[in-house]
Amino acid sequence: MDLNRHDFELDELMERIRTNDNRLIALQVPEGLKMQALEMMDTIETETSAQVVLAADPCYGACDLVHDKMQLMGVELVAHMGHSQMNIDSGMPTQFINVTYDGDPELSPVLPWLNQHREMAQRRMRQQEQNDGLSEEEAQERFMDAVGRMAPLSDTKLGLVGSIQHLHLLPEFHDRLEKAGFDVTIPIGGARLSFPGQVLGCNYSGDDPSIGHYLFLGSGDFHPIGLVLHTGKPLAMLDPYTGDAEEMSLERIERILRQRFGLIMSVQDAQTFGILIGEKPGQMRRTLALRMKRMLAKQGKKGYLLALEHVGPELIDFYPVDAFVNTACPRIAIDDAVKYRKPLITPFELEVALGEKKWELGYQFDEIP
Ligand code: SF4
Repeated sequence: MDLNRHDFELDELMERIRTNDNRLIALQVPEGLKMQALEMMDTIETETSAQVVLAADPCYGACDLVHDKMQLMGVELVAHMGHSQMNIDSGMPTQFINVTYDGDPELSPVLPWLNQHREMAQRRMRQQEQNDGLSEEEAQERFMDAVGRMAPLSDTKLGLVGSIQHLHLLPEFHDRLEKAGFDVTIPIGGARLSFPGQVLGCNYSGDDPSIGHYLFLGSGDFHPIGLVLHTGKPLAMLDPYTGDAEEMSLERIERILRQRFGLIMSVQDAQTFGILIGEKPGQMRRTLALRMKRMLAKQGKKGYLLALEHVGPELIDFYPVDAFVNTACPRIAIDDAVKYRKPLITPFELEVALGEKKWELGYQFDEIP
């Protein structure tokens, strides 16, 4: 990642500090940008009269806003960088700071994937139209998406999405892709998302049945894995940092699903569960955690509520329970499962293990709305 090609939009923040005459502010930056943090602190302290304290704990999203603990330190304003505002209130005045990357990758490397995926979506549409006389099971077998759900398509549009630092590319890419012959839509999601085309690791709410396949502008496979697990649709990736294109292979998704099913089977006889509740403002799902506890009790099993700011194997593995259910960041159970000695499952997976939901009806991604 070339940090010099990132634009850290600090002007609005410094204007707000001057207007409010803030004396102490907290700066919160994502892990990938921490190397630049001291330089940013210097800039803010030189250009304004505020002192800056870096919130140096790990930060992976706007779900993780510095909250009122910082008030004890006398912090008046939080500057949160690299993520956009969510539908949460941390209890602290917060300025969100955009970070954009100026990479503008060529379209050509990704076109073969997009053509292939559009054909897959068109095939799914054609099969839907030929469903006369099929039993429910046969229809399920023939029309299910990549995660095993019956989810009919109404169209085969290309859904164009990206991670936050590349969202400014979407309008231009929309036009380029339309010129290349695709019917493109930039999905608009729910209240957890601030911008059209935005996706989060825990929220892909812009998806709708008119979208047959996706193009993701961004790097890494974190968002692509979540998007395919959530939508069951083919996805191509174009990386603005490298210009490389690839697809999120359905074999990879199948492997993840097999691992999830294995974990569900492994907790069938478990009697005691630790139910993790995230203390971060945008990960706290108390009602869901309590529902899991009640569901376990109904079946004569025991659930212990464990509240944590950070979740990690060293923080939970030693509890004398048989397994854990995670209601904090949904991606911890999916992406980090192998790091834990005991099974770590999502709420949906617990419902399947307890017979409250059916695996055969398809995988349900754990989304925070
Ligand atoms: S995926 Fe996890 S870390 Fe990212 S925004 Fe969602 S809850 Fe936060």
